[in-house]
Amino acid sequence: MEEKVEKLVIIGSGPAGLTAAIYGCRADLDPLVYMGTKYGGQLMLTSDVENFPGFPDPVLGPDLIARMKGQAERLGARLVQDDVVRVNFKKYPFEVYTESGAVKALTVIVATGATPKRLNLESELKLMGKGVSNCAVCDGFFFRGKNVAVVGGGDTAMEEATFLTKFADNVKVIHRRDDLRASAALKKEAFSNPKIGFVWDTVVTDVLGDNKVKGIKTKNLKTGREGEMQADGLFVAIGYDPNTGIFRGQLELDPKGYVVVKNGTESSVPGVFVAGDVHDFRYRQAVTAAADGCKALLDAEKFVKQKLEVKLVS
Ligand code: NAP
Repeated sequence: MEEKVEKLVIIGSGPAGLTAAIYGCRADLDPLVYMGTKYGGQLMLTSDVENFPGFPDPVLGPDLIARMKGQAERLGARLVQDDVVRVNFKKYPFEVYTESGAVKALTVIVATGATPKRLNLESELKLMGKGVSNCAVCDGFFFRGKNVAVVGGGDTAMEEATFLTKFADNVKVIHRRDDLRASAALKKEAFSNPKIGFVWDTVVTDVLGDNKVKGIKTKNLKTGREGEMQADGLFVAIGYDPNTGIFRGQLELDPKGYVVVKNGTESSVPGVFVAGDVHDFRYRQAVTAAADGCKALLDAEKFVKQKLEVKLVS
């Protein structure tokens, strides 16, 4: 364990982590950011972002992350493309471990985001990247003139389905109920798109094909009737799992695994603050994650200041 104690370690490099880094530099906290080997979070899988203030023209998700990263770097943040594999928040200063070593920190901001859920079918895993995808923006291009299916009834599923109509001839949304969870605006857009059809009360039970998707097997939950559908691609859009495995036993998590937050950005451990989708299952927007990163930093700054003042006095 190195003897140097970092003032601030940030775990995560989506809009929450990078905004915390930008504010952390300006607060003179010399932030060390563990970005993760696959840095950038969900914006890396997004094409046009039209709702991030300050961009009158659409900006690509990866470009938006590159700008945030560049801004943090210019201000002096140390960005490391490593995964954090373990933390010890029971000791103070806190300990943060990567494959290559460990650091101590006066305060930590947790901004590790959330990951798309899977159907947990063997065939889904086997054909992942061979027609099964979680990201229409990344893979939609490969389905020009084809037929694809989207599973889910939320905002993500509607966005994926609508996006896919840029390429695919036919998009079938398969939803396990007969009522969409998606917001009115996205629902309306999907319902009015002539390329999108809906299969209600139905789940996907198998994905067919050896080296590429050829179709899917389905089951109607109301009638029990099983069916088969030709499809060249299957997009799974059924929600997210928070990336909190390394915090289990260290921070209080809710039953779905999201970090429990109180008083704005505080976790169950004083000095560990939380920002973005790792706790926020409600808003999940780039701009709310960025705002959260700012709030977490302001709280962390106050905490570090108090710690350093106590140290100076004693
Ligand atoms: P979500 O709202 O949790 O919806 C997940 C959908 O998948 C639900 O319709 C659910 O069915 C279905 N589902 C879950 N597990 C399933 C399974 N094992 N098999 C089949 N279907 C399953 O997730 P989301 O659409 O990813 O959205 C997450 C959050 O991000 C929401 O708050 C959403 O508003 C927000 N978001 C906003 C935007 C935007 O504003 N532009 C875009 C994307 C996401 P049930 O309905 O039956 O539960």
